[in-house]
Amino acid sequence: MALQKILREVFGYEAFRGPQQAIIEHVVSGGDALVLMPTGGGKSLCYQVPAIARQQAGLGITVVVSPLIALMHDQVGALHEAGVEAAFLNSSLSGEEAAQVEKRMLRGEITLLYAAPERVTTPRFLAQLDSLAERGQLALFAIDEAHCVSQWGHDFRPEYRALTVLHERYPGVPRIALTATADALTRADILERLQLEDAGQFVSSFDRPNIRYTIVEKKDALTQLLRFIEREHAGEAGIVYCQSRKRVEDVAQSLSAAGIRALPYHAGLDQALRQRNQDRFLREEGLVMVATIAFGMGIDKPDVRFVAHLDMPKNIEGYYQETGRAGRDGAPADAWMAYGLQDVVNQRRMIDESPAGEDFKQVMRGKLDALLALAEATDCRRVRLLGYFGEQSTPCGNCDNCLHPPAVQDGSELARKLLSCIYRVQQASGISFGAGHMMDILRGKQTEKVAQYGHEQLSTFGIAKEASESELRAVLRQLIAIGAVAVDGGMFNTLRLTDGSRAVLKGEVSVQLRESVGSPAPRRTRRSTATAPAAQDLGVDDQMRFINLKAWRAEVAREHNLPAYVIFHDATLAEIAQRRPHTLEDLQGISGIGAKKLEAYGADVLRVVADGV
Ligand code: ADP
Ligand code: ZN
Repeated sequence: MALQKILREVFGYEAFRGPQQAIIEHVVSGGDALVLMPTGGGKSLCYQVPAIARQQAGLGITVVVSPLIALMHDQVGALHEAGVEAAFLNSSLSGEEAAQVEKRMLRGEITLLYAAPERVTTPRFLAQLDSLAERGQLALFAIDEAHCVSQWGHDFRPEYRALTVLHERYPGVPRIALTATADALTRADILERLQLEDAGQFVSSFDRPNIRYTIVEKKDALTQLLRFIEREHAGEAGIVYCQSRKRVEDVAQSLSAAGIRALPYHAGLDQALRQRNQDRFLREEGLVMVATIAFGMGIDKPDVRFVAHLDMPKNIEGYYQETGRAGRDGAPADAWMAYGLQDVVNQRRMIDESPAGEDFKQVMRGKLDALLALAEATDCRRVRLLGYFGEQSTPCGNCDNCLHPPAVQDGSELARKLLSCIYRVQQASGISFGAGHMMDILRGKQTEKVAQYGHEQLSTFGIAKEASESELRAVLRQLIAIGAVAVDGGMFNTLRLTDGSRAVLKGEVSVQLRESVGSPAPRRTRRSTATAPAAQDLGVDDQMRFINLKAWRAEVAREHNLPAYVIFHDATLAEIAQRRPHTLEDLQGISGIGAKKLEAYGADVLRVVADGV
């Protein structure tokens, strides 16, 4: 079957997106590929279409290596819904079930087999692959979440390193590695670790134009978060990322207490509860998941309307990966982060105190600095984000700085005062102090500690009386961000000057401050919870049909034990509601309805459209 035909008949889509076609043609004809595409870009089709095409050409099975055991059931379920023979092998299967899958695999009855890397590289599995390979029935290896092979990525899985065996043992079998994240360093690492140096590289634009980026100064983070959700995302699905398990629990409870349906997720919860919360998030509408970064990889829920960070992530890769989970369906979505001095200090300390080698720490510090610079930026966030991934762009019109350009104030003078104060204190006392004490001195506050060390004698005592504490904090964050002040770990997070301080002191580098802007007025009118983003523009009648279709879909999804979006996306239902199809032919052209779904659900859909039940 031609590739277009597979796309249309199996998946119900009219056209390939972006570089999909080039990638698919390359892989179908036996080439290796490295695919870098943002979350929501459409990576799955890049190996699913070749898997189907090569199977049809008599070349056998595609093995999909994925670390996401908890999601394999739904991924395979989605393929079944589209009429594709797929299965998974993982620890959730009983011995007997696994043996069944293996038998079907060896008989050539499976087109796509999902398995975790530690399973793929066992002698038992490799022996089975040998037997397939001998008969020319090993069509393709797809290595999903390929950044897991690199320690520079944010999800390093040592098991991925063993995957080189695939290339060594089956040099004739093409491989496609896919990831949504990779700066230059990580990409080079992936190529080397997976021996893909000769592979075709397909790098898409990383822009996610439907995501609006907002970074606010942390004051009372929880209240800020509540206000954000209530104003802009009431009743909608979202993810809130927190640094620690404890904080996840606290925030989930606070949200629930405020009437927002929220669930916790972190590695400290027992496996069954974690799985249950994840399933609920995927299957129910409008839930907020409060989670550590343990949550999210591979989550393909299309209608996550916001991703909020209550604590700052480690680096831009992490931030971009996590925020990328919003708005996979292409409808408007928010990436919102609150950050403050304490975040900077915490992240810095975690690096300093980690047992890693100095080289590694140096790289991590560089990555943290890049994220700080993003957070402190007064210009377009997207330009900076994309720039980090090596992409040029122009101001986006869809980030906080573009929408509400912050008033910028020259903070160089204040910065110099702060630096001299750090210097004087160190000189006078022989030890350094933390941010709070430094600010007290600058503002001329007579505290106990000031008296204890005689710091009111310093020439810098009270030289920044006119500055507010929040201005001073902003200056300090900036200085840390540009590396002009270092924070030493240990109990007190003391401040010290660096090689970078000199340029600021000499006036060679200026410090720009965002003037504290009050929180902007609500930007979007609140949407009613019944209105799906894809269905915003529906008229009243269409709206009713849409709601009926959703109710029908929920029923089917429950019966099949799958998330609703695996049956049909909201956008597909909205289009059906609008077009009011009378016949199966009418349904055929609608995006997301392939041959199998037409056959399985067409008649029911027509009935729901006709009589609204
Ligand atoms: P990724 O794995 O890159 O994050 P997915 O493979 O999950 O992205 O695709 C994101 C969404 O886009 C999915 O809902 C998918 O069905 C849809 N999609 C992918 N390719 C196409 C296409 N060519 N036409 C229409 N929809 C597509
Ligand atoms: Zn912008």
